[in-house]
Amino acid sequence: MNRIAKAKKISLILNDLYPKQPIPLKHSSAYTLLVAVMLSAQTTDKKVNQVTPKLFKLANTPEKMAVLEVKIIQNIIKEIGLAPTKAKNLKKMAEQLIIGGGMRGEWTYLESLAGVGHKTASVVMSQWYGFPAFPIDTHIHRLAKRWGLSKGKNVEMTERDLKKIWSKNLWNKLHLQIIFFGREYCPARNHDLKKCKICSWAATKKVIKEEMKK
Ligand code: SF4
Repeated sequence: MNRIAKAKKISLILNDLYPKQPIPLKHSSAYTLLVAVMLSAQTTDKKVNQVTPKLFKLANTPEKMAVLEVKIIQNIIKEIGLAPTKAKNLKKMAEQLIIGGGMRGEWTYLESLAGVGHKTASVVMSQWYGFPAFPIDTHIHRLAKRWGLSKGKNVEMTERDLKKIWSKNLWNKLHLQIIFFGREYCPARNHDLKKCKICSWAATKKVIKEEMKK
């Protein structure tokens, strides 16, 4: 099966499994979404959702965040990975947003903020501003390879490949659907390819060989 046919079939399966794609990170504005996405690097959405209510009670706008001491921010988010760096970035990002006139859906503007890379900007651009984007995390990168949709050596190459095989209007929802699928099915240690809804027919020969060796 070629990549386009595979992509079509995967999309149908994911539509069936996840007809709705609720945004996993709690937020009430573009700014709180940006903060939550930034905090979610190298930790789980569940953990982020546990710390953000307290953080947003104190600072749900750049103006309120900018006046907090880094130590206070760090203390609130201490249970998530890279808390010292993220706390520093949150304060700096708030100051940058105040100077820049607040949140707006512009790629270069968002990517210029402290702690905001292309992936974080892509999530906010798609989930808040509705721009077509395909944020690729390590899980989507890995699955795209297993399913033979991309041979990308890094997330940038995988993003380029997936954007070519799926039409723009599907990117935002596929990003979430693949994440939901990965969370629900892929953490298992022993992957029984035959029982898997997608790998049973989409896995590359290399993946099949690797799984047989285990
Ligand atoms: S076998 Fe299924 S569960 Fe395992 S990686 Fe492939 S898609 Fe995920």
